[in-house]
Amino acid sequence: MKVLVLNCGSSSIKYQFINTNDKKVLAKGLVERIGMSSAVLTHQAIGQDKIKIVGEILDHTIAIEYVIAVLLSPNHGVIKDKSEIEAVGHRVVHGGETFSDSVLITDRVMQAIKDNIELAPLHNPPNIKGIRACKAHLPDIPQCAVFDTAFHSKMPPYAYLYGIPYALYKKYKIRRYGFHGTSHRYVSERASQLLKRDISQLKIITAHLGNGASIAAVNKGVSVDTSMGFTPLEGLLMGTRSGDLDPSLVTYIMGKEELSLSDMNALMNKHSGLLGVSGESSDMREIEESMQEGNKRARVAFDIFTYRIKKYIGAYAAAMGGLDVLVFTGGIGENSSLVRKQVCENMEFLGIELNPKLNEAPQGEAEVSSASSKVKVLRIPTNEEMVIALDTAEIVEKQKAQVEKNIDEDSNEIRFN
Ligand code: ADP
Repeated sequence: MKVLVLNCGSSSIKYQFINTNDKKVLAKGLVERIGMSSAVLTHQAIGQDKIKIVGEILDHTIAIEYVIAVLLSPNHGVIKDKSEIEAVGHRVVHGGETFSDSVLITDRVMQAIKDNIELAPLHNPPNIKGIRACKAHLPDIPQCAVFDTAFHSKMPPYAYLYGIPYALYKKYKIRRYGFHGTSHRYVSERASQLLKRDISQLKIITAHLGNGASIAAVNKGVSVDTSMGFTPLEGLLMGTRSGDLDPSLVTYIMGKEELSLSDMNALMNKHSGLLGVSGESSDMREIEESMQEGNKRARVAFDIFTYRIKKYIGAYAAAMGGLDVLVFTGGIGENSSLVRKQVCENMEFLGIELNPKLNEAPQGEAEVSSASSKVKVLRIPTNEEMVIALDTAEIVEKQKAQVEKNIDEDSNEIRFN
């Protein structure tokens, strides 16, 4: 099945057009600066050169129109007719407590995604815009939603509840949800395939380290704990997000600096993390360069980043009662041998031993632990788009099969009137 996978942000749309039969990406691209006068669409049919189109793209509906047009383009496209787009799969950030799996988007599902806006005010609205835009341009094509929170929906209550009055959980649904679920799910499943071991036998820790970073404890294929919480602010140090804090310092800083709620939110989400500590950059490559040139604040930002990951690995190994596999993914997890090295240093007591040579190997899926390491350490590039495409194809195929079964049953029925 050919599936258009969309990741709609407030001013950008990332897309991939995937043939799920052979798991091949046929085309991919990005629309940026939606709503601004000089929006840019970057598109690539796989095997051809990238092209750039600059123009006015005022909203998500027009952006999707452009995406469909470029997929149809005689020179740069990969389809001849719109009907070749057989389904659309959307990354939807917050499924709240409603969704524990990917679903076909119906009116009720749309309403539930809207009901979760309060939990993800920055993310769910552009996801909804993308779904509406597809409905306008591809009215008869089934659309599915794949939620960032779904993989973490089976955490036990002692992992997802905070130590605040229970009434607040009931009233406002304040609890740990976790994010990056599609990535944690993909790399944990991929790890079991690569190691040729049944996932139901494995205790896996997955570290998704990008601009946003989170870590998850995956026991027997189920996420039993994860570092991001009610929002994607909790847990590891990130590019511009603080991660874990003493909650009292929020009101303390607000009082001292006379900050409003939104100022304080911006401080923790946009001005903290690697950027806030180093005062230099939120980008790990620049932090590493600067640290190697002797910049002490870049060094301490790097040390906080890796130390937190180490602490969570210890905590999650304890939570699962052991550890078989540690997976690094995301831009930093996949590419920074220095981060992997420092995280895994002095972890022999837990059975983690890196092979320094393998750790330096460039690109791709690789085992980076030594032969004697009890814990297998893997580097696995994440592929959320493929999960979204495969989930979408599975749901749509099932629905088709059900419709056909209903027709068959109908035609077999003996009618007496
Ligand atoms: P996002 O969360 O936005 O998807 P990515 O997963 O693309 O982010 O990760 C971006 C991060 O990966 C940046 O901090 C970038 O510096 C880092 N990164 C990419 N390549 C390297 C590298 N070779 N060494 C260290 N860090 C890298």
